[in-house]
Amino acid sequence: MGLEGIHHITAITGNAPRNVEFYVGVLGLRMVKKTVNQDDPSVYHLFYADERGRPGSDLTFFEYPGAGRGRAGAGMVHRIVWRVASAEAIDFWAGRLADHAVAGEAVDGRLRFNDPEGLAHELVVSEVDDEPLVGGAPDVPRELALQGFDGVRAYSHAPERSEAMLGALGFTGGQDGAWEVRGKQRGGLFSYDPAPEARSLQGAGSVHHIAFNSAGEDQQRWRRRLIEAGAAPTPVIDRFYFRSVYFREPSGVLFELASDGPGFAADEDPEHLGERLSLPPDFEPLRDKIEPSLTPLPNPRARS
Ligand code: ZN
Repeated sequence: MGLEGIHHITAITGNAPRNVEFYVGVLGLRMVKKTVNQDDPSVYHLFYADERGRPGSDLTFFEYPGAGRGRAGAGMVHRIVWRVASAEAIDFWAGRLADHAVAGEAVDGRLRFNDPEGLAHELVVSEVDDEPLVGGAPDVPRELALQGFDGVRAYSHAPERSEAMLGALGFTGGQDGAWEVRGKQRGGLFSYDPAPEARSLQGAGSVHHIAFNSAGEDQQRWRRRLIEAGAAPTPVIDRFYFRSVYFREPSGVLFELASDGPGFAADEDPEHLGERLSLPPDFEPLRDKIEPSLTPLPNPRARS
């Protein structure tokens, strides 16, 4: 039983149209699912990923229209790190971000920037052989595109408190708070940085949780292992596109273990992922009520 790296990362946006413009129009990801928050179907849950919507490249946003800015603090992921293929790709993105009036900062061969709501990203030249997970934006050359997550960085006041639980989850390393979680196919990094004094604030531009890929394994076995390790996991929740168990690790970061299937093609033709509003079966009878109340979204791909 092992985790196959990161499954998805979920953050919050207060401005869904601008969010789509940035992640599809600028970063070149594909919108692979446009659905509603299963805990509040009056607002969107948007999913961006590679062209096939595979775990390892999937960044999702809950929409809270008009939400104020969040602030990453102790117990929160504060930066998302993406792989690219080469130093040439880093240069390409520095230019492309500048063209879109996004400030980029080069740090040790990496490129840092924020999304329009302050969510921090970093691009790094990949040092692993994991399959690249690439979106097919027509204006981003394939060899220069984002290739999926390399990892995340989180804040903690006492990262040593998380050691035993991360060990129980099969994470390795841990020196200076830097961990790797690697399965048979993929891996990802999870690192702690010293937390700022200011309290964390969940809001626009902040990460809500990070999910790791529990592959096809039995979620109930993971639950038992988590309970033995001292966590208080939720029951297995059917999220329709995957099954999930949630718990807070000892540094306070909200973790999810998500199954890799059935995936985003469960209710849509893979050729047309994310083009229409998808509603899980429980919400389908409410479509006539839900759909007109949602914010209209642009389709940047249709323009290019
Ligand atoms: Zn999730």
